[in-house]
Amino acid sequence: LTDADARPLPTGAPGVFCYPEAFEQLLAELRTAIAALAADEPFQRLAVPPVIARSTLERAGYVASFPQLVGTVHSYAGTPREWAALAPLVVTGGDWHAHQRIGDLVLLPAACYPVYASLAGRELTSPVRFAVEASCFRQEVTSETGRLRSFRMAELVTAGDEAHCLAWRDRWLDRVGDWLTGCSLKPVVEVADDPFFGATAKLYQAAQRAQQLKYELRVELADGLVQAVASANVHRDHFGEAFGFTSAGAPGQTACTAFGLERIALALLHAHGPHPRRWPAAVRAAVGAPAGADR
Ligand code: AMP
Ligand code: ZN
Repeated sequence: LTDADARPLPTGAPGVFCYPEAFEQLLAELRTAIAALAADEPFQRLAVPPVIARSTLERAGYVASFPQLVGTVHSYAGTPREWAALAPLVVTGGDWHAHQRIGDLVLLPAACYPVYASLAGRELTSPVRFAVEASCFRQEVTSETGRLRSFRMAELVTAGDEAHCLAWRDRWLDRVGDWLTGCSLKPVVEVADDPFFGATAKLYQAAQRAQQLKYELRVELADGLVQAVASANVHRDHFGEAFGFTSAGAPGQTACTAFGLERIALALLHAHGPHPRRWPAAVRAAVGAPAGADR
């Protein structure tokens, strides 16, 4: 445990940072706090890799809705002979990637997608619950504080019927709001929408807002810069339809509560200073630091 400055270090790539030990310590504490919030529900914990089958993301509707954010994974598909011609271009700065071909994997944009895919074919006789975390990638075009391209997302996910998903989402929205308030972060809760792309974007966003599918908890990350640190979502039967799972004979419904771990940490560093171990004891306890950690 160190009393060092926890602030992330830029890498030269916009939206990509390196994280000092003190920052990672804070993330570990946040995981503990989130687990404590979730302790009274039987979540199944899953570690999720940072890639997902391209077919799964296509089937989930993500590619059609957010093509601008998807990071694809390409690899070399040519012959050794062809490579001999391309290899010099790596050094000279030419188009060495002319023979790269898209593969069966893409970068994971949110931690919950593999969960919905895993439910394919199931009839849910009672609600299921998962707690997941993954490194996520989104090809963001701006890079203000907290807008990262590579970031870690913890999610609580459930599937069941409509009444369960709505009540669960509302309960988690309250719970996360209370937790952030306990961390002295003054969260503002707002109906939100996702960054749909293209001609139909406004239509989809308006529908999403009208149905109140997405709520965000927004907090200041830098002077005058407020960003969502968490979201609480219902998806109605979107994923039940896409992946073929049911509840009471109807397409299954789903909900998720997502925590942007770097954003929560950055908001805390902004509010309380760059040295977590010097924060007020009540804040340290709320963020999940073990008792006596700062002695
Ligand atoms: P979303 O699926 O967009 O609701 O994202 C869930 C949470 O992940 C958000 O509330 C943020 O805290 C976090 N998040 C989303 N996009 C980014 C990003 N580009 N950089 C850092 N955190 C993000
Ligand atoms: Zn989610």
